Amino acid sequence: MRPTQIYYEPGIDEYALGKELRSKFADLPWIPIDNHNNIEELRTKENSEFRNLKQLLILGTRKTHKYVENHKVSDYLVPYTSSGCTAMCLYCYLVCNYNKCSYLRLFVNREQMMERLIRNSNKSLKELTYEIGSNSDLVLENTITNNLPWTIENFLKSKKGRITFPSKFSMVDPLLPLDHQGRVIFRMSVNPESIIRDVEIGTSSLTNRIEALNKMAEAGYHVGILVAPVILVDNWKLLYSELFDRLEAELSEKMKKQMFIEVIFMTYSFVHRKINAEAFPDAKELYDAEKMTGRGMGKYCYRNDFRSEGELFVHDEIERRFGPGKILYIS
Ligand code: SF4
Repeated sequence: MRPTQIYYEPGIDEYALGKELRSKFADLPWIPIDNHNNIEELRTKENSEFRNLKQLLILGTRKTHKYVENHKVSDYLVPYTSSGCTAMCLYCYLVCNYNKCSYLRLFVNREQMMERLIRNSNKSLKELTYEIGSNSDLVLENTITNNLPWTIENFLKSKKGRITFPSKFSMVDPLLPLDHQGRVIFRMSVNPESIIRDVEIGTSSLTNRIEALNKMAEAGYHVGILVAPVILVDNWKLLYSELFDRLEAELSEKMKKQMFIEVIFMTYSFVHRKINAEAFPDAKELYDAEKMTGRGMGKYCYRNDFRSEGELFVHDEIERRFGPGKILYIS
Protein backbone atom coordinates (compact mmCIF):
# COMPACT_ATOMS: atom_id res chain seq x y z
CA MET A 1 0.00 0.00 0.00
CA ARG A 2 1.34 3.41 -0.99
CA PRO A 3 -0.61 6.16 0.81
CA THR A 4 -1.23 9.49 -0.91
CA GLN A 5 -0.71 11.62 2.21
CA ILE A 6 0.17 11.11 5.84
CA TYR A 7 -1.56 12.81 8.77
CA TYR A 8 0.50 12.48 11.94
CA GLU A 9 0.69 13.39 15.59
CA PRO A 10 4.16 14.96 16.05
CA GLY A 11 4.69 12.75 19.16
CA ILE A 12 5.24 9.69 16.94
CA ASP A 13 8.89 10.74 16.57
CA GLU A 14 9.51 9.53 20.12
CA TYR A 15 8.92 5.91 19.08
CA ALA A 16 11.14 3.60 17.02
CA LEU A 17 8.28 2.66 14.67
CA GLY A 18 7.36 6.33 14.24
CA LYS A 19 10.92 7.14 13.14
CA GLU A 20 10.98 4.16 10.82
CA LEU A 21 7.74 5.21 9.10
CA ARG A 22 8.99 8.80 8.85
CA SER A 23 11.91 7.67 6.77
CA LYS A 24 9.96 5.01 4.82
CA PHE A 25 7.46 7.59 3.56
CA ALA A 26 9.77 10.62 3.54
CA ASP A 27 8.79 11.52 -0.01
CA LEU A 28 5.05 11.92 0.79
CA PRO A 29 3.23 15.03 2.07
CA TRP A 30 3.11 14.96 5.92
CA ILE A 31 0.37 16.95 7.65
CA PRO A 32 0.56 17.47 11.44
CA ILE A 33 -2.60 16.87 13.51
CA ASP A 34 -3.50 17.26 17.20
CA ASN A 35 -5.32 13.99 17.61
CA HIS A 36 -5.85 11.01 15.28
CA ASN A 37 -9.39 10.63 16.65
CA ASN A 38 -10.68 13.91 15.38
CA ILE A 39 -9.28 15.32 12.16
CA GLU A 40 -11.85 17.93 11.28
CA GLU A 41 -10.60 18.43 7.73
CA LEU A 42 -11.31 14.75 7.03
CA ARG A 43 -14.40 14.34 9.20
CA THR A 44 -16.20 17.03 7.23
CA LYS A 45 -15.48 15.60 3.79
CA GLU A 46 -18.36 14.43 1.59
CA ASN A 47 -19.28 10.71 1.62
CA SER A 48 -18.36 10.62 -2.05
CA GLU A 49 -14.73 11.18 -0.94
CA PHE A 50 -14.67 7.82 0.87
CA ARG A 51 -12.34 6.13 -1.65
CA ASN A 52 -9.83 8.98 -1.41
CA LEU A 53 -9.99 8.94 2.38
CA LYS A 54 -9.10 5.25 2.30
CA GLN A 55 -5.79 6.13 0.59
CA LEU A 56 -4.59 8.18 3.53
CA LEU A 57 -2.44 6.94 6.36
CA ILE A 58 -2.91 8.33 9.86
CA LEU A 59 -0.14 7.94 12.43
CA GLY A 60 -0.50 8.49 16.15
CA THR A 61 -0.30 6.81 19.53
CA ARG A 62 -3.04 4.76 21.14
CA LYS A 63 -4.19 6.34 24.36
CA THR A 64 -7.01 4.03 25.50
CA HIS A 65 -6.14 0.45 26.29
CA LYS A 66 -9.33 -1.04 27.70
CA TYR A 67 -9.70 -4.80 27.22
CA VAL A 68 -13.24 -5.98 26.51
CA GLU A 69 -14.39 -9.46 27.52
CA ASN A 70 -15.27 -11.76 24.67
CA HIS A 71 -16.58 -15.30 24.62
CA LYS A 72 -15.83 -16.69 21.19
CA VAL A 73 -12.34 -17.69 20.09
CA SER A 74 -10.74 -15.22 22.51
CA ASP A 75 -11.31 -14.20 26.11
CA TYR A 76 -10.55 -10.52 25.52
CA LEU A 77 -10.60 -8.01 22.67
CA VAL A 78 -7.41 -5.98 22.93
CA PRO A 79 -6.96 -2.56 21.31
CA TYR A 80 -3.74 -3.00 19.38
CA THR A 81 -1.50 -1.39 16.77
CA SER A 82 -4.06 -0.21 14.21
CA SER A 83 -7.63 0.60 13.50
CA GLY A 84 -9.33 0.88 10.13
CA CYS A 85 -8.04 -0.51 6.88
CA THR A 86 -7.29 0.42 3.28
CA ALA A 87 -9.87 -2.01 1.86
CA MET A 88 -13.50 -1.01 1.31
CA CYS A 89 -15.80 -3.89 2.22
CA LEU A 90 -19.28 -2.48 1.71
CA TYR A 91 -20.48 -3.86 5.07
CA CYS A 92 -17.31 -3.06 7.05
CA TYR A 93 -18.20 -3.12 10.76
CA LEU A 94 -15.71 -0.32 11.42
CA VAL A 95 -17.84 2.11 9.41
CA CYS A 96 -20.43 1.87 12.23
CA ASN A 97 -17.83 3.18 14.67
CA TYR A 98 -15.77 5.53 12.54
CA ASN A 99 -18.16 6.44 9.74
CA LYS A 100 -16.23 7.62 6.66
CA CYS A 101 -13.08 8.00 8.79
CA SER A 102 -12.47 4.24 8.82
CA TYR A 103 -9.15 4.79 7.06
CA LEU A 104 -6.01 3.06 8.27
CA ARG A 105 -4.63 4.46 11.52
CA LEU A 106 -1.36 3.10 12.86
CA PHE A 107 -0.36 3.44 16.49
CA VAL A 108 3.38 3.52 16.98
CA ASN A 109 3.50 2.94 20.78
CA ARG A 110 3.51 -0.82 20.29
CA GLU A 111 5.97 -1.43 23.15
CA GLN A 112 3.45 -0.05 25.68
CA MET A 113 0.65 -2.21 24.26
CA MET A 114 2.84 -5.31 24.32
CA GLU A 115 4.02 -4.68 27.88
CA ARG A 116 0.40 -4.46 29.04
CA LEU A 117 -0.50 -7.62 27.15
CA ILE A 118 2.36 -9.61 28.66
CA ARG A 119 1.55 -8.31 32.16
CA ASN A 120 -2.11 -9.23 31.81
CA SER A 121 -1.32 -12.68 30.50
CA ASN A 122 1.28 -13.44 33.17
CA LYS A 123 -0.93 -12.43 36.07
CA SER A 124 -3.93 -14.44 34.92
CA LEU A 125 -4.55 -17.74 36.67
CA LYS A 126 -5.73 -19.40 33.49
CA GLU A 127 -4.44 -19.57 29.94
CA LEU A 128 -6.10 -16.66 28.13
CA THR A 129 -6.52 -15.93 24.43
CA TYR A 130 -6.31 -12.32 23.28
CA GLU A 131 -7.94 -11.05 20.07
CA ILE A 132 -5.55 -8.39 18.78
CA GLY A 133 -7.13 -7.84 15.35
CA SER A 134 -10.72 -6.84 16.04
CA ASN A 135 -10.25 -3.23 14.93
CA SER A 136 -8.30 -3.62 11.72
CA ASP A 137 -6.60 -6.22 9.51
CA LEU A 138 -3.16 -6.99 10.93
CA VAL A 139 -1.97 -8.93 7.87
CA LEU A 140 -2.57 -5.85 5.75
CA GLU A 141 -1.05 -3.61 8.42
CA ASN A 142 2.00 -5.86 8.51
CA THR A 143 2.87 -4.98 4.90
CA ILE A 144 3.57 -1.44 6.15
CA THR A 145 4.89 -1.96 9.68
CA ASN A 146 6.21 -5.52 9.89
CA ASN A 147 4.44 -5.55 13.26
CA LEU A 148 3.27 -9.16 13.20
CA PRO A 149 6.68 -10.89 13.42
CA TRP A 150 7.59 -8.33 16.09
CA THR A 151 4.34 -9.08 17.95
CA ILE A 152 4.69 -12.85 17.82
CA GLU A 153 8.33 -12.80 18.89
CA ASN A 154 7.64 -10.44 21.79
CA PHE A 155 4.40 -12.03 22.98
CA LEU A 156 6.23 -15.33 23.40
CA LYS A 157 8.22 -13.67 26.18
CA SER A 158 5.08 -13.99 28.32
CA LYS A 159 4.84 -17.20 30.30
CA LYS A 160 1.51 -18.25 28.86
CA GLY A 161 -1.51 -17.22 26.80
CA ARG A 162 -2.32 -17.05 23.13
CA ILE A 163 -3.03 -14.34 20.58
CA THR A 164 -5.42 -14.50 17.66
CA PHE A 165 -6.31 -12.31 14.69
CA PRO A 166 -8.57 -12.61 11.64
CA SER A 167 -7.78 -11.48 8.11
CA LYS A 168 -9.08 -11.08 4.57
CA PHE A 169 -5.56 -10.80 3.17
CA SER A 170 -3.15 -13.46 1.97
CA MET A 171 0.28 -11.87 2.56
CA VAL A 172 1.27 -14.35 5.28
CA ASP A 173 4.75 -15.31 4.04
CA PRO A 174 6.62 -13.24 6.70
CA LEU A 175 4.84 -15.33 9.38
CA LEU A 176 5.74 -18.76 8.05
CA PRO A 177 9.30 -19.11 9.40
CA LEU A 178 8.48 -17.77 12.89
CA ASP A 179 8.83 -19.88 16.03
CA HIS A 180 5.23 -19.32 17.21
CA GLN A 181 5.20 -22.26 19.69
CA GLY A 182 1.55 -23.03 18.92
CA ARG A 183 0.46 -19.86 20.73
CA VAL A 184 -0.95 -18.00 17.71
CA ILE A 185 -4.39 -18.68 16.23
CA PHE A 186 -4.84 -17.39 12.68
CA ARG A 187 -8.35 -17.05 11.24
CA MET A 188 -9.08 -16.34 7.60
CA SER A 189 -12.39 -14.93 6.50
CA VAL A 190 -13.86 -16.43 3.30
CA ASN A 191 -16.77 -15.66 1.02
CA PRO A 192 -17.82 -16.71 -2.49
CA GLU A 193 -15.44 -15.28 -5.13
CA SER A 194 -18.12 -13.02 -6.66
CA ILE A 195 -18.95 -11.51 -3.24
CA ILE A 196 -15.26 -10.89 -2.60
CA ARG A 197 -14.96 -9.17 -5.97
CA ASP A 198 -18.12 -7.05 -5.75
CA VAL A 199 -18.44 -6.40 -2.02
CA GLU A 200 -15.06 -6.91 -0.31
CA ILE A 201 -13.36 -4.30 -2.47
CA GLY A 202 -9.57 -4.22 -2.20
CA THR A 203 -9.10 -7.53 -0.31
CA SER A 204 -7.34 -10.73 -1.44
CA SER A 205 -9.03 -13.18 -3.83
CA LEU A 206 -10.51 -16.45 -2.57
CA THR A 207 -7.79 -18.40 -4.39
CA ASN A 208 -5.07 -16.49 -2.56
CA ARG A 209 -6.85 -16.77 0.78
CA ILE A 210 -7.11 -20.55 0.44
CA GLU A 211 -3.42 -20.74 -0.43
CA ALA A 212 -2.60 -18.64 2.66
CA LEU A 213 -4.70 -20.95 4.87
CA ASN A 214 -2.80 -23.98 3.64
CA LYS A 215 0.56 -22.27 4.17
CA MET A 216 -0.30 -21.25 7.73
CA ALA A 217 -1.51 -24.76 8.60
CA GLU A 218 1.66 -26.23 7.11
CA ALA A 219 3.71 -23.82 9.25
CA GLY A 220 2.04 -25.32 12.32
CA TYR A 221 -0.27 -22.46 13.29
CA HIS A 222 -3.72 -23.14 14.72
CA VAL A 223 -5.86 -22.06 11.81
CA GLY A 224 -9.58 -21.37 11.61
CA ILE A 225 -12.00 -20.24 8.95
CA LEU A 226 -14.52 -17.46 9.33
CA VAL A 227 -17.41 -17.83 6.93
CA ALA A 228 -18.16 -14.18 7.35
CA PRO A 229 -20.19 -12.34 6.78
CA VAL A 230 -22.78 -14.59 5.19
CA ILE A 231 -24.74 -12.34 2.81
CA LEU A 232 -28.13 -13.53 1.59
CA VAL A 233 -27.83 -12.22 -1.97
CA ASP A 234 -30.29 -13.53 -4.59
CA ASN A 235 -28.51 -16.79 -5.43
CA TRP A 236 -26.89 -17.27 -2.02
CA LYS A 237 -27.48 -21.00 -1.74
CA LEU A 238 -25.68 -21.72 -4.99
CA LEU A 239 -22.81 -19.34 -4.18
CA TYR A 240 -22.19 -20.69 -0.68
CA SER A 241 -22.50 -24.26 -1.84
CA GLU A 242 -19.81 -23.54 -4.49
CA LEU A 243 -17.66 -21.89 -1.83
CA PHE A 244 -17.78 -25.01 0.37
CA ASP A 245 -17.03 -27.18 -2.68
CA ARG A 246 -13.90 -25.14 -3.31
CA LEU A 247 -12.81 -25.30 0.31
CA GLU A 248 -13.29 -29.06 0.32
CA ALA A 249 -11.30 -29.48 -2.90
CA GLU A 250 -8.53 -26.96 -2.32
CA LEU A 251 -7.77 -26.97 1.41
CA SER A 252 -4.95 -29.32 2.35
CA GLU A 253 -5.71 -32.42 4.43
CA LYS A 254 -3.65 -30.95 7.27
CA MET A 255 -5.72 -27.77 7.22
CA LYS A 256 -9.06 -29.59 7.07
CA LYS A 257 -8.11 -31.89 9.92
CA GLN A 258 -7.27 -29.18 12.43
CA MET A 259 -9.54 -26.31 11.36
CA PHE A 260 -12.50 -24.88 13.23
CA ILE A 261 -15.18 -22.74 11.59
CA GLU A 262 -16.95 -19.59 12.77
CA VAL A 263 -20.06 -18.46 10.89
CA ILE A 264 -21.31 -14.87 11.14
CA PHE A 265 -24.31 -13.43 9.30
CA MET A 266 -24.07 -9.90 7.95
CA THR A 267 -25.38 -6.91 9.83
CA TYR A 268 -25.76 -3.67 7.94
CA SER A 269 -26.69 -0.10 8.81
CA PHE A 270 -28.14 3.17 7.69
CA VAL A 271 -24.61 4.67 7.72
CA HIS A 272 -23.37 2.01 5.29
CA ARG A 273 -26.29 2.64 2.96
CA LYS A 274 -25.63 6.35 2.91
CA ILE A 275 -21.87 6.14 2.35
CA ASN A 276 -22.11 3.32 -0.20
CA ALA A 277 -24.81 5.11 -2.22
CA GLU A 278 -22.59 8.16 -2.56
CA ALA A 279 -19.14 6.55 -2.78
CA PHE A 280 -20.03 3.41 -4.78
CA PRO A 281 -23.15 4.31 -6.78
CA ASP A 282 -22.73 1.28 -9.08
CA ALA A 283 -22.10 -1.26 -6.32
CA LYS A 284 -24.35 -4.14 -5.31
CA GLU A 285 -27.16 -3.06 -2.92
CA LEU A 286 -26.76 -5.04 0.29
CA TYR A 287 -29.86 -3.70 1.98
CA ASP A 288 -32.80 -6.01 1.33
CA ALA A 289 -36.13 -4.67 2.60
CA GLU A 290 -37.77 -8.09 2.35
CA LYS A 291 -35.12 -10.06 4.22
CA MET A 292 -33.89 -7.46 6.73
CA THR A 293 -35.31 -5.84 9.81
CA GLY A 294 -34.15 -2.99 12.04
CA ARG A 295 -32.45 -3.84 15.30
CA GLY A 296 -31.98 -0.36 16.77
CA MET A 297 -29.36 2.38 16.37
CA GLY A 298 -29.86 2.42 12.59
CA LYS A 299 -28.67 -1.18 12.23
CA TYR A 300 -30.25 -3.98 10.23
CA CYS A 301 -30.02 -7.74 10.49
CA TYR A 302 -31.70 -10.62 8.66
CA ARG A 303 -35.25 -11.46 9.75
CA ASN A 304 -35.54 -14.59 11.88
CA ASP A 305 -37.16 -16.75 9.19
CA PHE A 306 -34.47 -15.96 6.58
CA ARG A 307 -31.77 -16.20 9.14
CA SER A 308 -32.92 -19.63 10.39
CA GLU A 309 -33.03 -20.95 6.83
CA GLY A 310 -29.52 -19.58 6.27
CA GLU A 311 -28.16 -21.10 9.47
CA LEU A 312 -29.59 -24.51 8.71
CA PHE A 313 -28.27 -24.45 5.16
CA VAL A 314 -24.74 -23.39 6.10
CA HIS A 315 -24.62 -25.84 9.00
CA ASP A 316 -25.67 -28.80 6.82
CA GLU A 317 -23.39 -27.85 3.93
CA ILE A 318 -20.38 -27.64 6.26
CA GLU A 319 -21.19 -30.82 8.14
CA ARG A 320 -21.77 -32.79 4.94
CA ARG A 321 -18.31 -31.93 3.64
CA PHE A 322 -16.15 -31.57 6.73
CA GLY A 323 -17.90 -33.74 9.32
CA PRO A 324 -19.54 -32.87 12.66
CA GLY A 325 -17.96 -30.68 15.32
CA LYS A 326 -16.14 -28.25 13.04
CA ILE A 327 -18.48 -25.29 13.65
CA LEU A 328 -17.53 -23.32 16.74
CA TYR A 329 -20.57 -21.06 16.61
CA ILE A 330 -23.04 -19.39 14.24
CA SER A 331 -23.90 -15.80 15.08
S1 SF4 B 1 -10.86 -5.96 5.42
FE1 SF4 B 1 -11.96 -5.86 7.40
S2 SF4 B 1 -11.36 -3.88 8.27
FE2 SF4 B 1 -10.85 -3.81 6.08
S3 SF4 B 1 -12.63 -2.89 5.07
FE3 SF4 B 1 -12.91 -5.12 5.02
S4 SF4 B 1 -14.13 -5.60 6.86
FE4 SF4 B 1 -13.27 -3.54 7.13
